[in-house]
Amino acid sequence: MAECPRCHTPVDTQAIACPYCKNPLKAFGHPGIPLHQSSEGYLCETCVYHHDETCNFPKYPYAKDCTLYTDISTPMGEPDLPALPLSTNLNRWIRRHSTLLLFAGLMLVSVAIALRNL
Ligand code: SF4
Ligand SMILES: [Zn+2]
Repeated sequence: MAECPRCHTPVDTQAIACPYCKNPLKAFGHPGIPLHQSSEGYLCETCVYHHDETCNFPKYPYAKDCTLYTDISTPMGEPDLPALPLSTNLNRWIRRHSTLLLFAGLMLVSVAIALRNL
């Protein structure tokens, strides 16, 4: 027996919505797609995809409900990966901030040209 995250009433694990408060319990009205919800705080804080920096959901990092949430404290959610080397983290950072780096590069070139013409 599951519990409704809103009214905390025991509900059937297959229920699509809470029969008492009508809170949706499954995503897209499909009993096979669980909708994880948080009544306090954000789910992302304890999600595997936040900790491995791979989430690109629009609600990230302030999701209070999510279909892909995976609790990092559960055995299934624990990342079983070795620590990434520094160069991998640097490459990942560069990929995420490539636009910012491009603008910074253009600014540096512009400043260099302006200083040269003084
Ligand atoms: S998968 Fe969902 S809960 Fe996890 S980090 Fe992304 S938005 Fe947050
Ligand atoms: Zn309820």
